[in-house]
Amino acid sequence: MDYPGNLFVVAAPSGAGKSSLVKALLELDSHVQPSVSHTTRPPRGQEKHGREYFFVSEPEFDQMVLADAFVEWAHVHGRRYGTSKKAIEDRIAHGADVILEIDWQGALQIKRIFTNAVMIFILPPSWDELRSRLERRGEDAPEVIETRLRNAAAEMSQCKEFDFVIINELFERALFDLKAIVHSQRLKYVSQKRLRADTFKALGI
Ligand code: 5GP
Repeated sequence: MDYPGNLFVVAAPSGAGKSSLVKALLELDSHVQPSVSHTTRPPRGQEKHGREYFFVSEPEFDQMVLADAFVEWAHVHGRRYGTSKKAIEDRIAHGADVILEIDWQGALQIKRIFTNAVMIFILPPSWDELRSRLERRGEDAPEVIETRLRNAAAEMSQCKEFDFVIINELFERALFDLKAIVHSQRLKYVSQKRLRADTFKALGI
């Protein structure tokens, strides 16, 4: 599918720091818009319906699947998560850059539909660091942490399917890398031709 905006897809095992990096990028770059997913998991802490996620029931999710309302959806850690067509199609058609923070299964579904999507995988610098980040986060029970670590091995092996890999050792460095990827897409000929149409016209090219 062809479209004027860039579609960035970011995947990572839990604990790699994906959410913090995407959040920091969104604060710095107002041209990138997040896509708000639907999920059947309940809200955590301060999460608000329509901000972090659209929190829906299992039957509501089923209905959306039947209505073909998702571009992709997947089971992640025992819950369902999906990107609705509405969350992205209008925006990228109007030239916005959209970022999806989703799991690798959803990411690969997106790549099949949006072949120009820019695929970014975030890795932790080591197993020890991944474990200690999950423990420090204090969000999950020890058995949940063990499950997440077991899942992480399979998830990380998928990074070969992605265009870019960021190793999140130092947060500021990883953020710099993410910004560089986003910026480089905007310097491509097709983007420049669209974003700087006046300059091209004035130059007669
Ligand atoms: P959490 O429940 O911690 O917010 O997210 C759990 C996992 O689900 C994360 O890896 C997150 O990126 C992924 N996820 C969030 N939204 C979507 C989505 O729309 N589709 C898919 N496939 N995964 C998602």
